[in-house]
Amino acid sequence: DRIIAADATSEDEALETSIRPRRLDEYLGQVPVREQMKIYIEAAKGRGEALDHVLIFGPPGLGKTTLSHVIANELGVGLRQTSGPVIEKAGDLAALLTNLQPFDVLFVDEIHRLSPAIEEVLYPAMEDYQLDIMIGEGPAARSIKLDLPPFTLIGATTRAGLLTAPLRDRFGIVQRLEFYSPEELTRIVRRSAGILDIACAPEGAAEIARRSRGTPRIANRLLRRVRDFAQVRAGGIIDHATAIAAMEMLKVDPEGFDELDRRLLRTIIQSFDGGPVGVESLAAALSEERGTLEDVIEPYLIQQGYLIRTARGRIASPKAYRHIGLTPRSPVGE
Ligand code: ADP
Repeated sequence: DRIIAADATSEDEALETSIRPRRLDEYLGQVPVREQMKIYIEAAKGRGEALDHVLIFGPPGLGKTTLSHVIANELGVGLRQTSGPVIEKAGDLAALLTNLQPFDVLFVDEIHRLSPAIEEVLYPAMEDYQLDIMIGEGPAARSIKLDLPPFTLIGATTRAGLLTAPLRDRFGIVQRLEFYSPEELTRIVRRSAGILDIACAPEGAAEIARRSRGTPRIANRLLRRVRDFAQVRAGGIIDHATAIAAMEMLKVDPEGFDELDRRLLRTIIQSFDGGPVGVESLAAALSEERGTLEDVIEPYLIQQGYLIRTARGRIASPKAYRHIGLTPRSPVGE
């Protein structure tokens, strides 16, 4: 398994309960998102209305699920959680919606994976808190209308572009999560270390933060692996040298890249002459799924300027050549 994979593992889930922020002021970083949500939440509460529907997008592990729970907590309402591919029939969605208490949050992860038929049912529910469903089959079939309690739909997706336009238009609030700065991640690592009772020096936390690909989930996971290393090799204390030694063992380099990232850069440079190379060819060369490449691996490499996405495909930047110890081919992109 990739230590820096951004997807949640079962160990992540288990520790989740203790370190996941519950309130807005524990939700570190993402300052504009936090400031805006604070106002929208207060306004909705002041008016005694349900918060407008919220769409949150951003790469895995940046805090979409966490933010949804924080919003429900701040509103003082319940949250029901589901995901796009789980809702197969209109009846599944109807059951979820009719079970909500007034003002509750329905959190739909991977909302871009809802089927078109389910989306149709969702539109009137989002707009007028009304459900239009067909019951029965053949000549006996008839449509019934149900009134729903006012509720807030929070949808999460890795990329806003994956959503159909009519669905996207029905969200009054759209928030895009950004990769976290090393300083923000340092605060997150120190907060988690405090909660998990891990002795972690400030420079140790900063080193873990720097190598976490801008992603809190990765930072928390690296913290736990470095803790294991520190416990066995360094008397349980994560200082700067211990953090570096642990991450060398984990093969996470100073940029936070692992073998897969380096392989991707090497493949573009050595097998495709630096690009441009189409995402399908690249995925095939790496034996990875296209979706994993686009959602998990590429966003950080692009944000950091190692990879350039063009209409004709991916290009390795001069920074990428230097990272794997080669001289850049031409001065593209810097
Ligand atoms: P996503 O739903 O985007 O994949 P999650 O909400 O599951 O990501 O967040 C992953 C982990 O990162 C959680 O364990 C959570 O504790 C931590 N986390 C996410 N965002 C923040 C934040 N803003 N401040 C502190 N910890 C965070």
